Amino acid sequence: MKAAITGCAGFIGSHLAERILAHGGSVVGIDNLLTGRSENVRHLLDYPEFASITEDIAIPSNIVALVGEHIERIDTVFHLASPASPNDYARYPLQTLVANSRGTEHAIYLANRFHARLILASTSEVYGDPLEHPQTEEYWGNVNPVGPRSCYDEGKRYAEALVAAAHRVGLVDAAIVRIFNTYGPRMRIDDGRVVPSFIGRALRGEPLTLYGGGEQTRSFMYVDDLIDALVRVATIPLAGDFHVLNLGSTVETSIRALATVVASVAGVRLQVEDGPLPTDDPTRRCPDISRAQMLLDWQPQIGILEGLRRTIDYFRGELYGGQAAAS
Ligand code: UDP
Repeated sequence: MKAAITGCAGFIGSHLAERILAHGGSVVGIDNLLTGRSENVRHLLDYPEFASITEDIAIPSNIVALVGEHIERIDTVFHLASPASPNDYARYPLQTLVANSRGTEHAIYLANRFHARLILASTSEVYGDPLEHPQTEEYWGNVNPVGPRSCYDEGKRYAEALVAAAHRVGLVDAAIVRIFNTYGPRMRIDDGRVVPSFIGRALRGEPLTLYGGGEQTRSFMYVDDLIDALVRVATIPLAGDFHVLNLGSTVETSIRALATVVASVAGVRLQVEDGPLPTDDPTRRCPDISRAQMLLDWQPQIGILEGLRRTIDYFRGELYGGQAAAS
C-alpha cells in the first residue's frame, strides 16, 4: 500500500503508519503536531519508505505538491487529522472544526489528484448521546449542535457530509469509518481520555476519578484491532460503492467497571473519587458492527485484559522507564 496519512503523528496514525511500513508499503505522514507528537513516529524515520511533513492539512493549498515531493503514487489517503479527546477539542475548538472542514476538503483534493481511495476517520460521536442502542450506521444521532462537544461532533458530521457529496459527484472513491473508543500505547497520558487517565492515576497510586458516578458505558477497542480494520477498508474492492462502517468493540463496559479492571491489571488497590459529569457526556455507547464484520471479515480480537496489560506496560515505561511504580 502507498498511503498518505493526515494526523500521522497521533496515536492512531502512528500505529497505522507502522503497520503499513512493516508490510512493505510506503507512507507520507502529514501532521501539524497540535495534539500529535513527533516521538510517535521518530522510530519510523528508519524506513526509507517513510516521509514526514509537518504541515496543517487545513492550510496548504499546495498539499499535492508537498506530498508529491516524497512519493509518486498514492493508492490511499487516510484522513485522521483532528484533535480527538474531549480535553483536546475543548482546548482547540476552532482548530477541530477547521481540521474537519477545510482539512477534509484538502484530503479529498489530495485523493482526487492521486486517484487514491479516501478513508475518512469519523467517530461514534456523530451519534451524540444516542437514543438507540446499540448504534447501527443507519442511526442519525442525537447531537447538541452548540454544546462543548459540538466542535468535534458536528465537525465530523460535516466531514462525513463532505466526503459523501464528493463521492456522489464522482470526485473521489471513499469510505467512512466511525471509530468507537480506542486505546493503546502512544496515547498521551494527559489527553484526558478515560483509559490513559485511569492508568496514569493507578500507576501513581492516586484515586481514579469517576465522572458522574461512573455508570455511563463505553466499548473499548485495542488499537491493533482498529488498524486491522483500517487496512482492510483500504484494500477491499469497493466497486464504486460507498460504505459507512462502525468500528469498535461490542463489549459494553461501565466506567466504574473499567476502573476496577485497570486497578487489577496494574496490580494496585482500587481507589476511586467522584468528579462532575461533563456537559453532554453520552450515557451509553456500543456499536453494532455487523456491517464491518460482513464486509471486512473482521471483528476485534484483543480482549480488555490483554489490551490493558500492553497499554499499562507502555505507560509504566513512559512514567518510570520500566521501573516498579508506586503501589
Ligand atoms: N471519564 C471518567 N473519568 C476520567 C475520564 C473520563 O469517568 O478520568 C468518563 C467520561 O466522563 C466518559 C467516559 O469516561 O463518560 C469516556 O470518556 P473519554 O474522554 O475517554 O471518551 P468519550 O467517549 O467521552 O469521548
